[in-house]
Amino acid sequence: MTEHDKEQPPVPARRRFLRGTAGLTVAGLGAGTLVPNVAGAAAPAADADGVVCPDATLEAQTNRVLRWAGPAPGKWVKSRDGIEHDVVIVGGGQSGLAIGHGLRRKGIERVEIIDRSDPGEAGIWRSIARMKQLRTPKTMAGPKQGNTALGFRAWYETLNGPAAFDALDRIPRLVWADYLRWFETVTQARVRYRTRLLSIEPHGESLRLTIEEDGVRRSATTRKLVLANGFAGAGGPNTPPVLRELPSKVWAHSAQAIDFDAMARKVVAVIGAGSSAFDMAATALEHGASEVHMFSRDPYVNYAPAPPRAAAATPPPDRGHATLTELYGDLPDDVRWRNFVSGERRVASVPLDSLQRAVAFRNFHLHLNSNWTAATVDRSGKVAARVAGKTRRFDFVIAGTGYRIDLSAQPELAGVHRSIALWRDRYRPGPGEESAAGGLYPYLGPAFEFIPLEGSDAGYLRNIHCFNLAASLSFGLPVGDIPSTVDHPRLVSAIQKDLFLADVDTEANRRYLQAPAVAPDNSAYEKAVT
Ligand SMILES: Cc1cc2nc3c(=O)[nH]c(=O)nc-3n(C[C@H](O)[C@H](O)[C@H](O)COP(=O)(O)OP(=O)(O)OC[C@H]3O[C@@H](n4cnc5c(N)ncnc54)[C@H](O)[C@@H]3O)c2cc1C
Repeated sequence: MTEHDKEQPPVPARRRFLRGTAGLTVAGLGAGTLVPNVAGAAAPAADADGVVCPDATLEAQTNRVLRWAGPAPGKWVKSRDGIEHDVVIVGGGQSGLAIGHGLRRKGIERVEIIDRSDPGEAGIWRSIARMKQLRTPKTMAGPKQGNTALGFRAWYETLNGPAAFDALDRIPRLVWADYLRWFETVTQARVRYRTRLLSIEPHGESLRLTIEEDGVRRSATTRKLVLANGFAGAGGPNTPPVLRELPSKVWAHSAQAIDFDAMARKVVAVIGAGSSAFDMAATALEHGASEVHMFSRDPYVNYAPAPPRAAAATPPPDRGHATLTELYGDLPDDVRWRNFVSGERRVASVPLDSLQRAVAFRNFHLHLNSNWTAATVDRSGKVAARVAGKTRRFDFVIAGTGYRIDLSAQPELAGVHRSIALWRDRYRPGPGEESAAGGLYPYLGPAFEFIPLEGSDAGYLRNIHCFNLAASLSFGLPVGDIPSTVDHPRLVSAIQKDLFLADVDTEANRRYLQAPAVAPDNSAYEKAVT
């Protein structure tokens, strides 16, 4: 039984959704054409037993709606000598796919999406994410870029019917992964898999990348680079210092692939009490761990739905207005900073079902106010941890401690990070509002671009667009999350604008407008002139 089968509710016809997408040429839109659908576009095909094939229905529907959307504009970005790509996108997860599609719909075609993972494995959903269903509401927009036919709801309802969508609590995690795979296929994203960005260096105002593809290194040049490389893409996992010196066979961070089958009959510690920590604990228990102990420094677990907070005042419009989230990046610095610091000081909220999944086990133990101060490996190979004045022993430790932002720790940025302006370079917090962690976030421009440090001549940094967790302080929401898809149009338009304006030739414009007018040809109407 696959992990998928174990964890997911039955979803009718899910397995068939991609069959037929070979003939589904909707992403030909990206190339400015729409090739007619060859596989049952006119009417949904039927199974031998007369049941309508949902994948054919989906295919027909998607073709039709995309046809109505019309073709993308033809390629208009002028190629430049010695520059291969207009845009390289690092990451073929939900962000990279959506941004790539958005750019192609604007007529920007030399777009390359690269991902270090194997085909079908991009993103987190089939690997490190362990929850049963997404943490975000099922109605959020996702990568559809304003086109309802490309949305999760259209896909899911076409396969399973509207009642099935209504019956969903939230979107099952692996169903979301299937949907993204479909999105990738129908938008013809052409992700270059097993291809990793290793480093970036300036190439005039453009960029030279070192890339490793199937183990072979090469360089590539691009005018623009989008870092859609996920939550770990701007500093990596946040690892508790007490674990760093321990051998890797006794501990792992939740961001790593973990062999949960090896947890059977083991005593497991989980550090942290956020959503991923609860997912890790529950997964270990479901795989037969004899005990799981969770440790939190905090005195309580915050879970959603949370009890209503007593409102001291009506929230200002920069808080809690889902329809305004794409404007958060335009807020004044002090509002963005305070919002970040207040979020940092709150205990992160855990979906109630994630919490209940672990708490349902009698061998799950939650230790609050319990900070790990030291850890070693004893002679029997167990981890001996000092926690709240006691020594406790575990077979394996999982750190569910989230991610950190530290551009100096991100290998791909080694050659450029010193010139990138951070919040600590641009903003002085008021007394009581300091945050060392916040100070390390890059201070991004309105197009998610890095800003060169004052006095540096690193103008090329403006061509690196940082669409990952590091953008969260500048844009007021966890960038990469489904809610942050509201920001895709901003990024796509900004790249379009930069590429367009960079090619404006004022001299050519003057010559064109001042060229002598050609005498009009009146032959088409001459005989009617009286
Ligand atoms: C455990 C977990 C659960 C989450 N649950 C939710 C949720 O329920 N709802 C929600 O809205 N958000 C959730 N998030 C946050 C966020 O939505 C996800 O992280 C989401 O996958 C982000 O999408 P992305 O495309 O930006 O990045 P990712 O999905 O992480 O994709 C990034 C891609 O970049 C590739 N990559 C990275 N570095 C390189 C490199 N150097 N070269 C080439 N390729 C590279 C990776 O292989 C990966 O495929 C969760 C995050 C985590 C970690």
